[in-house]
Amino acid sequence: MRYPSAGPDDGADTLFDVDALDTAAPGTRTAGRGGTVPGHGPEQRSSFRDSATARRLLPVRTVYAEPAAAASARGRQILARFPEAEVIAVESHWGIPGLHGNEGNVERWVRVKGETLVLGEKKTLTTRPNGRSADWIGPGASNGCAMACAYCYVPRRKGYANPITVFTNIDGIIAHLARHIARQGRKRDPNQCDASAWVYDIGENGDCSVDALISDNTADLVRAFRRWPTAKASFATKFVNPDLLALDPRGRTRIRFSLMPSADSRLLDLRTSPVGDRIAAAADFLDAGYEVHFNLSPVVVRPGWREAWSELLRHLDDALPDRVKRQAAAEVIMLTHNRELHEVNLGWHPRAEEVLWRPALQQGKRSENGALNVRYATRVKAEAVRALRDLVASHAPWLRIRYAF
Ligand code: SF4
Repeated sequence: MRYPSAGPDDGADTLFDVDALDTAAPGTRTAGRGGTVPGHGPEQRSSFRDSATARRLLPVRTVYAEPAAAASARGRQILARFPEAEVIAVESHWGIPGLHGNEGNVERWVRVKGETLVLGEKKTLTTRPNGRSADWIGPGASNGCAMACAYCYVPRRKGYANPITVFTNIDGIIAHLARHIARQGRKRDPNQCDASAWVYDIGENGDCSVDALISDNTADLVRAFRRWPTAKASFATKFVNPDLLALDPRGRTRIRFSLMPSADSRLLDLRTSPVGDRIAAAADFLDAGYEVHFNLSPVVVRPGWREAWSELLRHLDDALPDRVKRQAAAEVIMLTHNRELHEVNLGWHPRAEEVLWRPALQQGKRSENGALNVRYATRVKAEAVRALRDLVASHAPWLRIRYAF
């Protein structure tokens, strides 16, 4: 995989067409590029996050900051990275007037995601059991995302115009994880999460690869997990950040590249790395010491979806070297959606809703907070899961499906 140079004048060699990233118009990104240049060789690379490409992706102009977060070591590092930004003190990273919630931001919300940051402290540190994607969901070091996937559930608690909140008390988060991991002892019973390690999801409410453009939180977590022989970090990502190649995870971090057919991704995965780039990066991440898995998600049932997934799986089979295939596994996750998000999307990206909102195929379920979530009706979902399993068996039989739901 060829990565962009990260020098100060790297504008001619970008990861993708960044001018297109600041628009809400889908389908404008360039395809990935071929070639192989190891991103972690003996030559010194300057940070991708200091490149013009990254700065155009995150042209931070406003930082809302809790005072303690701004004064912390991590907070000061982040503010030093964006010296031009206006810093606005806020009591809490929750419910910032004029930023959170959905009113008034629909037209601007993609721009807000790149131009605004929030610094806060994660007050309640909890790890809860999962059992599907991971054994445990750890306290993430961020909430919100600079990407703008039309189906994303991450911003649900802060309103959908939700930029990244970075939690600056990373030492407390790591200390919490250390205690939790120590309490578990060794994993005695292999399960589909992992044969021998307790797997902790560290990115439930954001994208750790994007977070690494802002701070060292992701790097600190990856380095912490390499000290814990009974545990493994895991996060899903839609962004190829070559800086992660330098973190030396020593097999203790599982990166899960999320994949969907390119046509769906161009419509739905706004501001992310092209799917071809995510696949092309897999071998480099394996060689850099990551375990590399894939999330086949979300699976969107629309006319022609089986053919599109067949094409993607054939490409995966052609493009990945055997060493990636030997250790790969996948999660299959069918689309879930939400009435509130549907209404927000109608205001800025109605074409996405033509494939996401399919009442004839979906059934609703009221969540505890009163929101109406929708998922494919039981029969539709069972048939689609079966069809996708059959496609994987035909086109990528080496890809073990860890779970599908
Ligand atoms: S990359 Fe992930 S966290 Fe970010 S908007 Fe897309 S689905 Fe949400």
